[in-house]
Amino acid sequence: MTITVVSPEQFERQRLQHFMDEIVGQDDPKEPWWTLALCSQTDPELFFPDRGETARSAIRVCASCPVQRECLVKAMAEEAERTGERRFGIRGGIPPRTREAIAAGSLSIDDALAGA
Ligand code: SF4
Repeated sequence: MTITVVSPEQFERQRLQHFMDEIVGQDDPKEPWWTLALCSQTDPELFFPDRGETARSAIRVCASCPVQRECLVKAMAEEAERTGERRFGIRGGIPPRTREAIAAGSLSIDDALAGA
């Protein structure tokens, strides 16, 4: 048996890519907004820029997404369950550091979205 060790960032990328893959055809009545997610029609890699790469393309997609607020609220709820872990990727058009500011209470979701 081969065990592959991945970094926390790789793990998070794989987890969120899976999430985005699952968006297509998602019909959970509790989360109907998923069916409208624009990232379901784009390359998931856009949302996980490597160090030194720009996130502008992903942020531009999110800015046009009709479910940006729902997505950010969901991301904040998910990340709140994993306190102490680093955040990765663009969620709701908002990069990890800005989501940390929201979680810390120094920025509101409305202000973050207004500045996105
Ligand atoms: S806001 Fe961005 S990450 Fe969230 S569902 Fe829309 S396109 Fe995907």
